[in-house]
Amino acid sequence: GVVKFAPYGLRKVEAALIENGFNVVTVHPYDIEKYLSNAKVVGVSVMDPLGFGPVSVTFSSLLGGTPSTRLEFVNLMEKLRPFKDKIKIIVGGPGSWQLEWDEYWKNFVDCIIIGEADEVVPDLFRKALRGEILPKVIHCKSPDVEKIPTIKNPSVNGLIEISRGCGRGCRFCSETLKRRRDIPLNKILEEVKLNIRGGTRGVLLHAEDVLLYGCKDPKFVPNEEKVVELFKAVKTITNHVGISHCSLAAVCSKPKIVEEISHILEVGEKIPMFGVQTGVETGSSRIMEKYMHGKCLPFHPNEWCDVVEQAFAIMHDNLWIPAATLLIGLPDETDDDIIKTIELVERLRDYRSLIVPLIFIPMEVCALRRERRFAKESLRETHWELLIACMDHDIYWVDDLEENYLAGFKNIPVKLGYQAFAWWVKRAWKKRRGEILKLYA
Ligand code: SF4
Repeated sequence: GVVKFAPYGLRKVEAALIENGFNVVTVHPYDIEKYLSNAKVVGVSVMDPLGFGPVSVTFSSLLGGTPSTRLEFVNLMEKLRPFKDKIKIIVGGPGSWQLEWDEYWKNFVDCIIIGEADEVVPDLFRKALRGEILPKVIHCKSPDVEKIPTIKNPSVNGLIEISRGCGRGCRFCSETLKRRRDIPLNKILEEVKLNIRGGTRGVLLHAEDVLLYGCKDPKFVPNEEKVVELFKAVKTITNHVGISHCSLAAVCSKPKIVEEISHILEVGEKIPMFGVQTGVETGSSRIMEKYMHGKCLPFHPNEWCDVVEQAFAIMHDNLWIPAATLLIGLPDETDDDIIKTIELVERLRDYRSLIVPLIFIPMEVCALRRERRFAKESLRETHWELLIACMDHDIYWVDDLEENYLAGFKNIPVKLGYQAFAWWVKRAWKKRRGEILKLYA
């Protein structure tokens, strides 16, 4: 039941508790019953517990059904229910805000931690062990970087945080409320070594924008020297290095940094391609200016479409594959805004990438939290046209990705699984596309 790899955020909480002398085990939810008779406090880390996150809302709106994350969360809570009189349940993690929207689950658990838990957990767990009544909801402040503990055990996918927070201030995003801080290089390397020793094949460097590591520039122009130093240092420990996110504005403002990282990591030689998540969000400079003007710095919102295309071109040339999100349903969005986004998607057709539209959710942890929720019924013709443009783009690139990305895969079941999935998606989309076009004809 004790897991070899755990979600990174949970490892941080585990580290904070270990450093404060707690006896803590991190176990898989499927095996938790074995531990409940001795446990006094159960901490649960959640990503999307009730299915209110943008990905779940988008896909359940389009395809129907209940998000699996919700089913898993409810399952876990049902396992805890018989022990509720003798244990305290504390829920944290990026999706914990969702419990504030649901009176039933809010009352079921003892405490909900929203925000960065590193500093608050020791005192909170001490109170829980003493049997004291806990505050129902705690909103945490961002701790200083030296107060963030180093993980003690390996994380899932070797994920390692190199920076926390973002600083660009998009009003729909949960990162807006966190200060941007860089983790010192020695701490990062300590976690890289720990993961590799613990049996992870490689590491995934995580930040809201990996290219801004060490950046102090108020206009977010990357600090090339710091980024190169980071990648070179990590590469001395492992050949398998990935990154989670980068911004298109950073790519566009320092194209050389992309080339240098590709060179250090031997992309195209040791690694066939390099995947990264990024945000396009919109093709409308009006929406950009209104909700996310910091996202395009050092450029102006009016330049956004050119910045996006330029960044996609740079990544294409360097074998980086962006998986980009678009945002639909922001308050006050017009058909004209959506049409501009469709035009931008069409401009990106020649660049190897995936583009995924997501429905805006006024998350409790973002600046637009008081705005109305976008209902499925509000999806109109232009939204469906945008969806079609994105799916056509993705289907266009699926075969290329299969051919190149899977080239290095030795695992035959994974290869066959991907091919079968790609075949199913293409077939299902052909049918659905026809239905949508007929509906709006
Ligand atoms: S740039 Fe990305 S991570 Fe940063 S605030 Fe905007 S959406 Fe959030």
